[in-house]
Amino acid sequence: MTATGTKKQHKCPACGRPAPYGGNPFRPFCSKRCKMIDLSAWLKEDYCISGEWRETGEPVERKEKRGE
Ligand SMILES: [Zn+2]
Repeated sequence: MTATGTKKQHKCPACGRPAPYGGNPFRPFCSKRCKMIDLSAWLKEDYCISGEWRETGEPVERKEKRGE
């Protein structure tokens, strides 16, 4: 072990930049922004899976378009 390895750092899953580990409220992300990016990404994904798809098990086309 080297003396330089006292600070734990890892890669931010969102942007790939080195992120501090200790004392980081947004870990494993480097910042709040990256945390929100990742969170919104999987929320969006979860929403699609638990949405219309589950009824038939197949993707369905939108029959109604509202406000788009
Ligand atoms: Zn980041």
